[in-house]
Amino acid sequence: MHVLLVEDDLPLAESVAGAMRAQGWRADISSRGEPVPASLRQDAYDVLVLDIGLPGIDGLETLRRVREQGSTLPVLMLTARDAVGDRVRGLEGGADDYLVKPFALDELLARLRALARRHELRRSQTLVLSALRFDAVARRAYVGEQPVPLSARECIVLQYMMLKTGQLLPREQLTGLIPGWEPGASDNALELLMSRLRAKVEPAGVRLRTVRGLGYLLEPAADA
Ligand code: CA
Repeated sequence: MHVLLVEDDLPLAESVAGAMRAQGWRADISSRGEPVPASLRQDAYDVLVLDIGLPGIDGLETLRRVREQGSTLPVLMLTARDAVGDRVRGLEGGADDYLVKPFALDELLARLRALARRHELRRSQTLVLSALRFDAVARRAYVGEQPVPLSARECIVLQYMMLKTGQLLPREQLTGLIPGWEPGASDNALELLMSRLRAKVEPAGVRLRTVRGLGYLLEPAADA
């Protein structure tokens, strides 16, 4: 992960960047918004963290300029506790998520991972596993030529699992992809979603395995 962190509170920026580097991420800090559009053109970042209150142009104007140059990079805005209007304007201006200060570092890192994963999903096109095909542009799945009816949540989960075929995917990684998933939702809710999905996709010669206590894995069926 390569992160650009735009924050004028330098002690805060350093501590956030330190936590990112401890995860093995690359983190660059900018204390102002003006250079951000040019930085994004020069370097391949995976995600942008943008404080709203900045000297010079603020985070909202920075975001506007970033989107104006056609960048689809995931953006997480940092906002002050009471600035509800800023949050709304940020999301309307094309931010993907926001976090209210003060925040827990772990929460920020988890949100950024989820944003980067969703971005990766948007970039993938057609995924194929055995007779199962997922068209990422149309957001539809097929078994052979037969469309598979999927709920919005099943669709997101299946697409990600097809992208990560053969990899054990922890529950939190999957639930983190689902917009509006309650962090406290029971494991049963995910298991229910998975069993519905399993029934729909396994006729295509794939196997959706539950690895108890760990997560889920999508692979070709042994006899496929
Ligand atoms: Ca600030």
